[in-house]
Amino acid sequence: MKRVALLGATGSIGRQAIEIVEAQPELELCAAASGSSPLDDVDAPFKQVGGDLTELLDQADPDVVLNAVVGFAGVHATLWTLEHGVDLALANKESLVAAGDLALDAQRRGGGRILPVDSEHSALFQCLEGREPEQVDSLVLTGSGGPFRGRTRDELTAVTPEEALAHPTWRMGPKITVDSATLANKGLELIEAHFLFAVPYERIEVVLQPTSIVHSLVRFRDGAALAHLGYPDMRAPISYALTYPERAATPLAPLDLTSLSLVFEEPDVETFPMLALAREAGEKGGTYPCVFNAANEVGVAAFLEGRLPFLAIAEIVADALERADGAPARDLADLVEADRAARAIPVA
Ligand code: NAD
Ligand code: MG
Repeated sequence: MKRVALLGATGSIGRQAIEIVEAQPELELCAAASGSSPLDDVDAPFKQVGGDLTELLDQADPDVVLNAVVGFAGVHATLWTLEHGVDLALANKESLVAAGDLALDAQRRGGGRILPVDSEHSALFQCLEGREPEQVDSLVLTGSGGPFRGRTRDELTAVTPEEALAHPTWRMGPKITVDSATLANKGLELIEAHFLFAVPYERIEVVLQPTSIVHSLVRFRDGAALAHLGYPDMRAPISYALTYPERAATPLAPLDLTSLSLVFEEPDVETFPMLALAREAGEKGGTYPCVFNAANEVGVAAFLEGRLPFLAIAEIVADALERADGAPARDLADLVEADRAARAIPVA
């Protein structure tokens, strides 16, 4: 029996994870947590609404932690899991982006595995099969391009939260859905891929595949390119991470190949500057990725509350990166301070 601690149990990933756990006799929920929503309908011996997630994890003794919290709030749980040598099924990309080297140091000490839940990284993980970075020519992250693909900047000045929340292919929580519309999500994923697979930024490409059938691919040095295909359904990567190294059956439909036509295109980084800002933050290293993430969280929250125009999210992030010194975090206290300082950015 594998004991699963599910953090973010009431969210989009959390709900789908409960479905997977309930369908798999070898998985059991040992703990569930949310930020503020009640957990009355979740069946787990340890439950917690709000508060310090590491206290819950201390009590629950999990074999795997599925971190499906949204935002930097998940960072303590990510570090606890890695430090304790417990497997980390990681949906909360923001924690790995922000903590970066601190997380990898904790993993080296603890010895646990990071099993990516983000669909692109699950795809890359499966294509890589543990191969060393020197066998890799490049990683190709795919993205749908979000609801505003093909628009000009003029056409984006007045877009509303409702329009940004209408994602063409994935049904997700509000924060990641806005991130998909600005391409900040692909930027976070670029940094996430760098830390997960130890591949330098210049060998990680982003390409759009609007129907989200190709979940990512790896080009190897021998010329082979391995891709991962499937319908856009997070139950597949959640199940893979929770049952790894097995592949459990899921209710997903098999791909109907003759109904597909796969089109790829370049992302428009002029109209969607977040991708370029993330690449720059990742390449500079230190706490720049943490600052990118923090300022983005502030911008997205303000946009969703109707206090900020869509295009200003990227302006806030650019401004925060400019103001920050980016000094590497020696420990969690440094990281929390870098996150706090970046959030102090003025929002118009
Ligand atoms: P969501 O908004 O639907 O759910 C977020 C969950 O986190 C909720 O259960 C909420 O209660 C909980 N939470 C928030 N703050 C918390 C705190 N301080 N302590 C404990 N719990 C807290 O978000 P989501 O779409 O499920 O996304 C969750 C994470 O997974 C994000 O990092 C997102 O980027 C990532 N992700 C999501 C998808 C998807 O399809 N939804 C795909 C890939 C990656
Ligand atoms: Mg993704």
